[in-house]
Amino acid sequence: MLNTITLTRKERDCIVLIGERGTSDFPLRLIEVANRMNVKPPTALNLIKRLVAKGMLKRERGMLRLTDKGKAECSRIIESHRVIETMMARYGLSADEACKLSCNLDFVMDEESVNRIFTELGKPKVCPHGKKIEVVQ
Ligand SMILES: [Zn+2]
Repeated sequence: MLNTITLTRKERDCIVLIGERGTSDFPLRLIEVANRMNVKPPTALNLIKRLVAKGMLKRERGMLRLTDKGKAECSRIIESHRVIETMMARYGLSADEACKLSCNLDFVMDEESVNRIFTELGKPKVCPHGKKIEVVQ
């Protein structure tokens, strides 16, 4: 099943990038997003505008922060990411291969499917990189 929120892969990467900054006093700016995502500033600006329109992101005096909706989406993506890469690593992929592939899937999977996989895996506590999996059931 597919998730009902439709994001592109670039939008997904942007949400995770900004989300990883968390509540830091130094949120990312447009130019940093462009640099880290390896795109030109006008491309990053388009991306940011789309995320603002989707209610995921807010711009405050040039600084970019996730909205509550954006934060929830970011946690959901990260959680799916870790469950999916754990599944792939169990079936023989290296942690790095699993991680790369999971980035293409984590944002399109719905929560219920991810939870089912998580349960089938025996509710693992950490992903192949040793990061915590926190599935809220
Ligand atoms: Zn990963």
